[in-house]
Amino acid sequence: MKDTFKHKGMRNKLVEIIASKDIKDKKVLDAIRAVPRHLFMDSSFEDHAYQDKAFPIAAEQTISQPYTVAFQTELLELNPGDKILEIGTGSGYQTAVLLKLKARVFTIERQLELFKKTSLFFKKMGYRPKKFIFGDGYKGLPEEAPFEGIIVTAGAPEIPKVLLSQLKIGGKLIIPVGLDDQIMTRIIRNSEKEFERQEFGSFRFVPLLEDKN
Ligand code: SAH
Repeated sequence: MKDTFKHKGMRNKLVEIIASKDIKDKKVLDAIRAVPRHLFMDSSFEDHAYQDKAFPIAAEQTISQPYTVAFQTELLELNPGDKILEIGTGSGYQTAVLLKLKARVFTIERQLELFKKTSLFFKKMGYRPKKFIFGDGYKGLPEEAPFEGIIVTAGAPEIPKVLLSQLKIGGKLIIPVGLDDQIMTRIIRNSEKEFERQEFGSFRFVPLLEDKN
């Protein structure tokens, strides 16, 4: 589990690529520069860790493309100490980027294999989300609500209404919405009952699955 000069050099190049795709928030770029993405991937993919691409992880899931992680994180516009709910922990890469930005992170994963693997990895690396939960994030996390931000890292067929009710006033939900392709969507809670919807580009995620029991 090493992070070498070579890795750091490759990360600097990756950050240049992401910045050229119009990610402007310096803090977000610095977080991407800081987090050793190669350690979140199986060693067989390590050589590809600093390409701006998604790659397979366990349980037929993927580690998101770095640009996508930067894009979603930028949309959150988070401040240090903000309470953030992440749905779809996966490899934990997005979690680590949020932690680097000093968010208080609550994160949920529904695949047991990934949950176990990533739990061990967080411990080994010293990454400390406030809570890492095995379960269905479709319902959010009512017992910890409200949140300044909710970030969904899987493609949702529609916006789960219950997530909106777990936002603080001024809070933001970042969610890719759609079946095959997804439109990156940001919902801002302007008041108790008013929500503003903004749409950004098209992305492709693994599906957000709802546990029906
Ligand atoms: N941020 C992760 C993305 C992983 S892919 C990373 O960069 O590694 C999306 C993840 O969402 C998968 O691990 C999948 O198992 C998980 N997922 C899908 N539906 C979910 C749900 N309802 N609740 C929690 N996690 C879910």
